[in-house]
Amino acid sequence: MDAILVVNAGSSSVKFRVFEVEGSRTLRQLISGQVDGMGVHPKLKASGADDRKLVERSYEAKEVPDVETAMRTAGAWLRTEQNLHFMAIGHRVVHGGPHYDRPVLVNESVVADLERYVSLAPLHQPNNLAPIRVLMDRFPDMPQVACFDTAFHRGHSEVAERYAIPDNLYVEGVRRYGFHGLSYEYVAERLRELIPERAGGRTVVAHLGSGASMCAIADGRSVESTMGFTALDGLPMGTRPGQIDPGVVLYLLSEKRMSAAAVQDFLYKECGLKGLSGITNDVRDLMESAAPSAALALDHFVYRIGLYAGYLAAALGGIDNFVFTAGIGERSVPLRTRIAEKLAWLGGDLDADANGKGDFCISRPGSRLGIYVVPTNEELMIARHTLATLSAGKIAGAAAKRTA
Ligand code: ADP
Repeated sequence: MDAILVVNAGSSSVKFRVFEVEGSRTLRQLISGQVDGMGVHPKLKASGADDRKLVERSYEAKEVPDVETAMRTAGAWLRTEQNLHFMAIGHRVVHGGPHYDRPVLVNESVVADLERYVSLAPLHQPNNLAPIRVLMDRFPDMPQVACFDTAFHRGHSEVAERYAIPDNLYVEGVRRYGFHGLSYEYVAERLRELIPERAGGRTVVAHLGSGASMCAIADGRSVESTMGFTALDGLPMGTRPGQIDPGVVLYLLSEKRMSAAAVQDFLYKECGLKGLSGITNDVRDLMESAAPSAALALDHFVYRIGLYAGYLAAALGGIDNFVFTAGIGERSVPLRTRIAEKLAWLGGDLDADANGKGDFCISRPGSRLGIYVVPTNEELMIARHTLATLSAGKIAGAAAKRTA
């Protein structure tokens, strides 16, 4: 059996999925799993295609202290207990910097290049690259493909991509990149399948998970995003503030005497819905809370999504489709209702029944703006890219052999 392993390694967990390759293009998910609690209470968990539990195993903290050992643990289980051998491995890599506008087959020089972007995404990039290094050492002949969260946005115009700062900083990479690109690309592909007659139009996608952003898509291509140089910008998120006056950061540094590291920690972990409510980052708990601060946090979240819908509609010169995706976007009926109210001036007319049922199309038939719910699948997107990059590499390799 041909299979592809998809790896999404973060600071606290290594998530993995296994896809069986059927024919030349069809991918079927076989296993979904993760190693979490690294260095604290490490646990390997995985389930099969039918959600059947395959393993749940705890380890000593010192046995699985970091991403490398987590990857080795998952890999050993997949090989020895599931008897799986992979034709290729696809990785989620948050930052492809200014140059990578598509997935790439990794080798030493690509990894060295990607390591240069650690300073652009210090919390994510090192964890994304660690499993690639481990696997390269252990299986030097295994094709590995890096898929970037930034790549889908690399076609933004220079006007959109620039900050109003001196050119030398732009040249060294201080630009508005945009993230969640694998999710947006997947959603754009799904729209082409589900509503081919509208998918070429002007679309705003709201990826509302624990990280949240929105993307303007014209004719299937990203033209603008709410995120920028880092994944801190744009919408308020679970624990990140979203767009904030840089003067606030200066205030924290100079008046509050916080170190740069403390400010970073604060902005990534203590703000957003959690900071504003003073209670939690979880939308479900905020909805159930009677505390005024919980209501304020949700009001702010909805308000900012509405504002950014206007901002992205301006980038597109109008809007035909609005799509909800990711944890909150896919599951929260009441928040979708509240956000849709903010879209009324853009022609959005929600169908409450369809919204309640979680249908694909949740706007009324006469609504000028089509409103949709599309469950995202970044891992499947990575598996597709991995397969396509592999096939392209084989074709290029065969052509090179013919001409040699
Ligand atoms: P991540 O961004 O970590 O990949 P997800 O896209 O799965 O995560 O989104 C996680 C978020 O989704 C959490 O903040 C959680 O509060 C929210 N969420 C999950 N289910 C619901 C629900 N039924 N209603 C509201 N929010 C939900």
